[in-house]
Amino acid sequence: MKYSKQRELILTYVQNTKTHPTAEMVYNNVRQKIPNISLGTVYRNLNQLCEYNLIRKISTPNKIDRFDNVYDNHGHLYCHECGKVEDISEEIISSVCDFIADKTNYDIISHDVILVGICRNCKKKRR
Ligand SMILES: [Zn+2]
Ligand SMILES: [Zn+2]
Repeated sequence: MKYSKQRELILTYVQNTKTHPTAEMVYNNVRQKIPNISLGTVYRNLNQLCEYNLIRKISTPNKIDRFDNVYDNHGHLYCHECGKVEDISEEIISSVCDFIADKTNYDIISHDVILVGICRNCKKKRR
């Protein structure tokens, strides 16, 4: 992959945020540094970074892709009400995988976990 400053900025942003940004959120951030960048360019770079496994794409129930780092093999919680995506630590996920492996007699080699629920904040608002 050829070096590009735009892609470098996009990569750094996605790797260093906990928000699991949408392409639009990435665009709004990168635009502060490269004002003339287009949303299409951001999309293209995000997809290239996914192809090279430098970041990953998380598919959510509302069909809007979110992007994340690939530092470890953690899972995700998705809030059905506000759309927030939070991490489930690799430690928790691997103990769940061990449990399932044991029950099903499978050797689990990978996973892509997203659990849908209602987050703490949204639960509070409901009361
Ligand atoms: Zn929520
Ligand atoms: Zn994550």
